[in-house]
Amino acid sequence: MHDLIVIGAGPAGMQAALTASDHGLSVLILDEQPKPGGQIYRNIEGASAQDLEILGDDYRKGLPLAQAVRAKVQDGSIRYISNAMVWQVTDEREVGYSVGGQAHLTAAPRIVLATGAMERPFPVEGWTLPGVMTAGAAQTMLKSSGLAAEGAVFAGSGPLLALIVYQYVKAGVPVAALLDTTPANGFGRALPHLPGALRRAGMLWKGWRWLARIKRAGVPIVENVTDLKLVGDDAVSGVSYRCDGGGWQTIETRHTLLHQGVVPNVNLSMAAGLEHDWDGRQLCWRPRVDRWRAGSVPGISVAGDGAGIEGAAAAHLTGAIAALGVAHGLGRFDGNARDRLAAPLFKALNRESAIRPFLDAWFEPAAQFRTPASPSTIVCRCEELTAGAIEQAIAEGGTGPNQLKAFCRAGMGPCQGRFCGLTVQAMIAEKTGKPPETVGYYRLRPPIKPVPLRELAAMKVEFPEAPDTGGPDDGASATHG
Ligand SMILES: Cc1cc2nc3c(=O)[nH]c(=O)nc-3n(C[C@H](O)[C@H](O)[C@H](O)COP(=O)(O)OP(=O)(O)OC[C@H]3O[C@@H](n4cnc5c(N)ncnc54)[C@H](O)[C@@H]3O)c2cc1C
Repeated sequence: MHDLIVIGAGPAGMQAALTASDHGLSVLILDEQPKPGGQIYRNIEGASAQDLEILGDDYRKGLPLAQAVRAKVQDGSIRYISNAMVWQVTDEREVGYSVGGQAHLTAAPRIVLATGAMERPFPVEGWTLPGVMTAGAAQTMLKSSGLAAEGAVFAGSGPLLALIVYQYVKAGVPVAALLDTTPANGFGRALPHLPGALRRAGMLWKGWRWLARIKRAGVPIVENVTDLKLVGDDAVSGVSYRCDGGGWQTIETRHTLLHQGVVPNVNLSMAAGLEHDWDGRQLCWRPRVDRWRAGSVPGISVAGDGAGIEGAAAAHLTGAIAALGVAHGLGRFDGNARDRLAAPLFKALNRESAIRPFLDAWFEPAAQFRTPASPSTIVCRCEELTAGAIEQAIAEGGTGPNQLKAFCRAGMGPCQGRFCGLTVQAMIAEKTGKPPETVGYYRLRPPIKPVPLRELAAMKVEFPEAPDTGGPDDGASATHG
C-alpha cells in the first residue's frame, strides 16, 4: 500500500508526488490523461520543437517536471497510472478508479486531490450547436494532436482566452475575430489591486505582448461586447453580438470558441465530503483548506487550481506545500523541519498570488453571461433543460439546486453538474434574491463520473487490511473498516 495517492498529474500533482517521494514516501499518481502534464503541460512529453515554439515558455517548463516523474517511476519510488479515471474518494481515503474498463478500489493514509480547474459555463444562445466549443477544448486539440479550427471566432474574456488566440496566431491558424466580453468597468474595478499585481509585472507584460501579437496579425478585436448569440440551424453559421446595447452585428463562421475564465473542478472534493466555501471574488466554490492544504476530511489535502484559481506557477508551490504537510503528518520530520522546508515556498506563493485580486476583478465575467438571456437557451446540456424550464421549476418551488434535481433532473446527467451547476445556482439567486452562498450547490456523490455496473461488479480491491494513518498529530484519526 502506498503512503500517498495523488489524483491528477498536472503541475500540482506532479510536484506533490515528487516532493513526497523526495521525503521517502511511496506515492501512487492516478490521472485520467494518457500522459502527465495536466491542462497547462498537456502532452508535453510528445511536443515537437515546433509545438514548444508555438505553445510558449510557460508550456516548456513542464518538460523537466514530467521527466522527473518518469525518472521516479523508473526507480520505483513513484507509481503512475495513466488513463485512470477516479470516480470516488471516500472520507476513509478509499479511492475508486477505472482503467481500460476495469474498476479498482485502493486506499492510502493520505490523499492529495490535484484535479485542477475547468472552464466556467458560458450559457449563451446557441452554445450547444455543433461547431461551438470552449477555447480550452480548442487548446487541448492543439496541444494533444496539433489540430486547429480555422477561421474561428473567439468570444469571451480572461487571460487564458488571450493566450489561446495568441497560440493560434503563432501556429499560423487564421482567426476571424476576438469578441471581448470583459466588462467595460473591469479595469477600473481592478485598479485598487494594481500594487499587488505589479509584484508580478512580468505576467502583465506577457499578457500585453500576447495582445500586441494578436493585433499585429490583423485579428479584429471587438471590445465591450455586451450581448452574444450563436446562430445556425444544424450547426453554427455565425456569431451575432452587440456592444454597449448598440446594433447587432454578425460574423459568419463555422467555428466559435467560447471562454470566460476557469473555476475549481470541485466534483471529487465535494463528493469526498470536504467543506467548501463560496468565493465571492472568483464566483465559484472552493474546498476549505489550511495553510498546508489539508481539507476538512482527515488525511485529504487539495493542491493546485482545484483549491482556488491561482495559476500554474502557484500550483507547483501548493503541490509541494501539501506534500510537506503530508510527510510531516506521516512522521517523516517534525514541525520545525517542515516549516524550514516550506518557508521559501510560502514566500514564492505569496508573490504568485499577489496578482490574483487584480485579475479576478478585471476579468470577473459579466452577469449577463453567467445566466442565459433567452428562455430557449439550454442550461443543463445532459438533460437538455432550457432556461425556461428551469425558471418554471424555480417558480414552482425548486428554490435550491438539489430540489431542482427532483423537480426537473437538472444536474443529474453524466457531467454531474459541471456544465450547469454555477448557472443554475446563479439563476436561483437571481429569481429568489438569495445570495449565491445561501443558494448552495448540487450535493455531489460518487461516482462523480459514469461507471458501468459490470465494472463495479468486477471491481478489484487493492488493500487487504486497514491503512495505517501514520503520524499522531495531524488529525487523521479515523482508521478504515
Ligand atoms: C482547458 C484548460 C486549459 C488551460 N490551459 C492553460 C495554459 O495553457 N496555460 C496556463 O497557464 N494555464 C492554463 N490553464 C489553467 C490551469 O488550471 C493551470 O494553469 C494549471 O494547469 C493548474 O494546475 P493543476 O495541477 O492544479 O491542474 P491541472 O493542470 O488541470 O491538472 C489536473 C489533472 O487532474 C486530472 N483529473 C481531473 N479529474 C480527474 C479524475 N476524476 N480522475 C483522474 N484524473 C483527473 C486532469 O485530467 C488533469 O490531468 C488551463 C485550464 C483549463 C481548464
